[in-house]
Amino acid sequence: MPEELFHKRPTPIQPIYSAVAEKAGVQWLIKRDDLIDPQISGNKWRKLKYNLQCAKEQGYKTLLAFGGAYSNHLYAVAAAGSLFGFETVGIIRGQEITQLSPTLQFAQICHMQLEFWPREEYRLKDKSELFKKIQEHYGSFYMIPEGGSNALAVKGCTEIIQEINIPFDYVSCACGTGGTVAGLIAGLEGKNTCLGIPVLKGGDFLKSDIQELLSQYYLQEDQPVPMFRNWQLETSYHFGGYAKTTTELLSFIHRFEQENNFLIDQVYTAKMLAGVEDLILQGRFKRGDIIISIHTGGLQGRLPQL
Ligand SMILES: *Cc1c(COP(=O)(O)O)cnc(C)c1O
Repeated sequence: MPEELFHKRPTPIQPIYSAVAEKAGVQWLIKRDDLIDPQISGNKWRKLKYNLQCAKEQGYKTLLAFGGAYSNHLYAVAAAGSLFGFETVGIIRGQEITQLSPTLQFAQICHMQLEFWPREEYRLKDKSELFKKIQEHYGSFYMIPEGGSNALAVKGCTEIIQEINIPFDYVSCACGTGGTVAGLIAGLEGKNTCLGIPVLKGGDFLKSDIQELLSQYYLQEDQPVPMFRNWQLETSYHFGGYAKTTTELLSFIHRFEQENNFLIDQVYTAKMLAGVEDLILQGRFKRGDIIISIHTGGLQGRLPQL
């Protein structure tokens, strides 16, 4: 395996410029996990790391992943497959369209086999009739759940916290399936506070999904499941729902990128940062508090016209 990715130095932590944070006397920093790799970026690498190792150890030749046509996860699995020597199969939600999305074009360049499933079948995943056909066709494969969240993914994300070598009060992160935040919570071991910002509407199930992922993680580690209370979900920053944007969000991105010299994507990191800045404005933090936000990457999905 290309060992460099496995032994990467900790990603840098740098100050965020924000007049709002400055006025509130809050120290706001960002951990640049977007710099991990241009293709297997951010939390997708953290979540894949131990899954790739496990697949290799168990002798699998093929990885199977699920996702939508713009999925950062599928993009990362396709890239990881070609880098680490696995065949890859991508099950795509929805019918094939004549013009493949840029994400799927990239997946194809990485030799990922694309299988388009109607939404009803997709919802059933490995319980779908089509799954049997896939098994007959591709033989044995290592299956990565949708969004890449499982116990090994949580384990990979605990390392985000382990890399932080400065004091802090809060860590914040965007949530899709909640796997990354579960890893942050496990990594914190009850200390500090973790703020998860769901980028989807109605994150009602997310709390129990995160709890379930934490249980799976501790079960796998042969440890009792702790009941942590040092985490919260801030559910009002979805900006209309998954992958939706508003003019408010777009102008936040413009300003933020101009004041800070790095890019953020509109699906995840921008919503999280806009949320944190709003919480600072609302007086949620006290003077002197230190917040570390995680840049989870995903720049492949950044709108080029931003
Ligand atoms: C997938 C993704 C997330 C969400 O991660 P979950 O573990 O599913 O909550 C956050 N940020 C980026 C950039 C992503 O690609």
